[in-house]
Amino acid sequence: MSHADGLRIQTRLAHAGAPTPVDGRAGPVNVPVVRTSTVRFPNTATHAALAASRAAGEAVATYGRHGLDTHRALEEAVATLEGGHRAVLAPSGLAAITLVLLATLTAGDHALVSDSVYSPVRKVDHTLLQRYGIEVEYFSPARGDLEARIRPTTRLLYLESPSSLLYEVLDLPALAAIARRHDVVVAVDNTWSGGLYYQPLALGANISVQAATKYLGGHSDAMLGVVTVDSPALARSIGAIHDALGFSVSADEAYLVLRGLRTLDVRLARHQVNATEVARYLARHADVGRVYYPALPQDPGHALWQRDFSGASGLVSFAFRGDDARAAAVFIDHLRHFAIGASWGGYESLALEAAPARLSEHSYWDGRGPVVRLHIGLEHPQDLIDDLSRAFQATADALRC
Ligand SMILES: *Cc1c(COP(=O)(O)O)cnc(C)c1O
Repeated sequence: MSHADGLRIQTRLAHAGAPTPVDGRAGPVNVPVVRTSTVRFPNTATHAALAASRAAGEAVATYGRHGLDTHRALEEAVATLEGGHRAVLAPSGLAAITLVLLATLTAGDHALVSDSVYSPVRKVDHTLLQRYGIEVEYFSPARGDLEARIRPTTRLLYLESPSSLLYEVLDLPALAAIARRHDVVVAVDNTWSGGLYYQPLALGANISVQAATKYLGGHSDAMLGVVTVDSPALARSIGAIHDALGFSVSADEAYLVLRGLRTLDVRLARHQVNATEVARYLARHADVGRVYYPALPQDPGHALWQRDFSGASGLVSFAFRGDDARAAAVFIDHLRHFAIGASWGGYESLALEAAPARLSEHSYWDGRGPVVRLHIGLEHPQDLIDDLSRAFQATADALRC
């Protein structure tokens, strides 16, 4: 899916995957929700031809599990967004990640995974990959020793940039260049940028994976994952594992995410403005030891972020200045306009504690106390800042006595 038409991404997002009118003349703006289990064929020859196309990795359906028009429209729109050859939907972001791991690795293989990765990836490793004789090694991308870690059995370099919880920005072009010299497939979790502010495939990755549950959907009402690949060969292997796992995505879910994708640009622009304002406020607060947000000039990843990204999302984390382990929970319990919850990427603000036990897996982390992860939604930033100010005051009061 090239950008040969010369259109800018906002224009492409408004129209990608739009339906062609049924009678060639008039039709709806949006692709309908096409729900089905059985796919009907006009004759056996067509059935056989479509089955062969599907086996070759093409985006066609021969059964309801493969999804029909709604799914194809979303896949096309995401492939456009990510600048990929093809996109494949999965029932969740984690399912999409599992799909990538199983499609690129087999018994005896070795994978290198950045250690500040979304933590459920480790669960997939421990409960699934290990059982099938696949070895995953977690490494610190900042240490500069990737090449020395590559073995003859290394097949996959799996990265996430910026990373979960602390937003460590990776030098993807440099890491991908090393991997490609050794024929190692490079996959990147691109959930943070929604695919809009970061183009892993253009920077050297072969696969970009997203939890569409987050910014693509954007309204906290859908669970979906999507894998975008840069080649027909990867489309074939991803498609084969997708079929083998029996993955199926509801047409309603695909519709909701396609609907969210139409406004991705305007939503992310506001998330960025609001989050930047909150990050600046936090950086000035006396009780804050460190703010994690790559768009802030003092963030260690700022230069790389400026070079490789075209914007920032709504995720901001911060550490308290003191080491009192109770601070994060007390603080979060005093917030009024931030819901307590995992996931993020919807229009609403959220807060969650990132406990040291979780952060200790990240070589990027050099702190001791708890970190609070905020997702800054589309509320007015001053209301959010007022809420945070109240919570800081209440936390200081509560911990003093
Ligand atoms: C949430 C998330 C996922 C998983 O997505 P689900 O749809 O919740 O399974 C994967 N990667 C990152 C970076 C995420 O934040």
